[in-house]
Amino acid sequence: MSDISAAMPRHVIVTDVVGRDGFQDEPRIIPTDEKVRVIEGLVRAGVTSIEVTSFVHPKVVPQMADAAEVLARVPRDRGVTYSALLPNLKGAQRALAAGIDEIHLVVSASESHNRANLNRGTQESLDQLREVAEYVRAEDPKVALVGTIATSFGCPFDGAVPVDRLLWVIEQFRAMGMASIALADTTGMANPLQVGQTVAAVKQRFPEVDFQLHLHNTRGLGLANAFAGLQVGVTRFDAALGGLGGCPFAPGATGNISTEDLVHMLHEMGIETGIDLDALIAEAKKLPDIVGHEVESFVIKGGKACDLHPFEEIKIARSAAA
Ligand code: ZN
Repeated sequence: MSDISAAMPRHVIVTDVVGRDGFQDEPRIIPTDEKVRVIEGLVRAGVTSIEVTSFVHPKVVPQMADAAEVLARVPRDRGVTYSALLPNLKGAQRALAAGIDEIHLVVSASESHNRANLNRGTQESLDQLREVAEYVRAEDPKVALVGTIATSFGCPFDGAVPVDRLLWVIEQFRAMGMASIALADTTGMANPLQVGQTVAAVKQRFPEVDFQLHLHNTRGLGLANAFAGLQVGVTRFDAALGGLGGCPFAPGATGNISTEDLVHMLHEMGIETGIDLDALIAEAKKLPDIVGHEVESFVIKGGKACDLHPFEEIKIARSAAA
């Protein structure tokens, strides 16, 4: 029997994106105090990589208008890498002034989603991002840059995204000097076979790149897609506490894979994350009060697979019910 765990990583870095992807799609403006409390909870639970906000125009995404304030108030002495998504030079200026650690520059692989999200074509966006990357390098070379490719596995407007199209975008991110590239399944269109094949193909062409996965659970395939990524050696995954998330510019977009469900799966498979899952679940359980609705997460409802119940109690309850 072949060992399917042979290529699987022993340790995975989970980046929580609830502060950005999670909150950006919430209809109610979440007070800065509450955003900061959620991030503090993640830090307490041992999350070391947090996409904390986005530096986009406050008129376009009002929920992110407090980006600099959030960043100024989260704990900075605990070894956490704070990242933010941003689309342009203005965003980069604001992010650097606010003391960001890592910048995620985003473009959509598909032309239509890029126009819906950024109001311009993909090549035009890439040209703009090249200027942003040069600016960040010149201003603060310590700030890491990650290229994020939205709709990497399918677009709600254009449909399938050919791997050649991804390679074309990756080539340009590489020319900007990016060592890490995140493939985002923005509207949950990927399937596990496709994720495995696509990641294998891009890794074969760019073996030096650290490919990350940003998965949404729109059609219930999020964790299966993460598993497919693990099998081809992906060691960095985005996820959002409580499975919050969505894209205001993509119809039908729903939440990210939930951080607690992903960490639960990884730990059950013996893959380390450095995260205290019980503490993480406790933080996720606070979310409904903050966002005003239930959240999409399995382990906060079902508990961990390793939480066993005393058999005697069930027997007694049954006989009482009979
Ligand atoms: Zn997303």
